[in-house]
Amino acid sequence: METPGNLFVVAAPSGAGKSSLVKALLELDSHLAVSVSHTTRAPRGQEQHGREYWFVGTDEFRQMAAQGDFFEWAEVHGNLYGTSRRAIEDRLARGEDVVLEIDWQGALQIKQIFGHAILIFILPPSWAELEQRLKRRGEDGADVIARRMENARLEVAQARHFDFVIINGLFETALFDLKTVVHSQRLRYAAQQRNKSQVFSALNLI
Ligand code: GDP
Ligand code: ADP
Ligand code: 5GP
Repeated sequence: METPGNLFVVAAPSGAGKSSLVKALLELDSHLAVSVSHTTRAPRGQEQHGREYWFVGTDEFRQMAAQGDFFEWAEVHGNLYGTSRRAIEDRLARGEDVVLEIDWQGALQIKQIFGHAILIFILPPSWAELEQRLKRRGEDGADVIARRMENARLEVAQARHFDFVIINGLFETALFDLKTVVHSQRLRYAAQQRNKSQVFSALNLI
């Protein structure tokens, strides 16, 4: 499916800093919106229904999946997560950019549907640092952290299927890298022609 808007897909093992980086990017870039996924996991401390996620029960989720409401969905760490059509279709059709923060299984499904999706994988600088961040975040118990560390080894092995890889060692450096990837897509010929039509027209390029 081709759309005028750019579709950025950011994946990472839990704790690599994906949500922090995407949040910082959105604060800097008013032309970008994040897609709010549906999930069956319980909300964490400050999370709000409709802001971080649409929190739904397993039955509702399964029903939505059966109705074809999701572009993709996957089971991650024992919970179900999905990107609804409603969450991204309209924005992309209007030519606006969208970022998905989803797991690698979902990212590869999205690439099948949207061939132009830009897949970005965030790596932690080391296993030790990843575990530190999961502990420091203080949102998950020891058993959940152990499970996420175990899954992280399988997830990191998928990075090779992505278009771009960003190592989140120094936060500001990783944020700069992410901004650069987003910016570069906006300089593509077709995008420039669409967004700078007056210049193109004056130069007889349209
Ligand atoms: P966090 O990654 O530790 O912040 O934990 P979350 O519970 O927010 O997310 C767990 C995993 O589910 C992460 O790998 C997310 O990228 C992934 N995830 C979130 N939303 C979606 C979605 O809509 N689709 C898919 N396939 N994965 C998702
Ligand atoms: P994810 O969304 O990938 O699970 P988060 O964005 O929640 O990860 O980050 C996990 C923890 O690591 C958070 O407490 C966050 O503040 C911290 N963190 C993120 N990036 C960095 C970084 N570059 N250096 C140190 N800590 C970081
Ligand atoms: P409201 O329009 O009142 O915000 O949402 C009404 C219902 O629609 C809620 O159950 C909410 O979960 C769902 N909803 C809101 N936004 C989306 C979306 O982007 N995709 C899907 N599939 N459901 C949504």
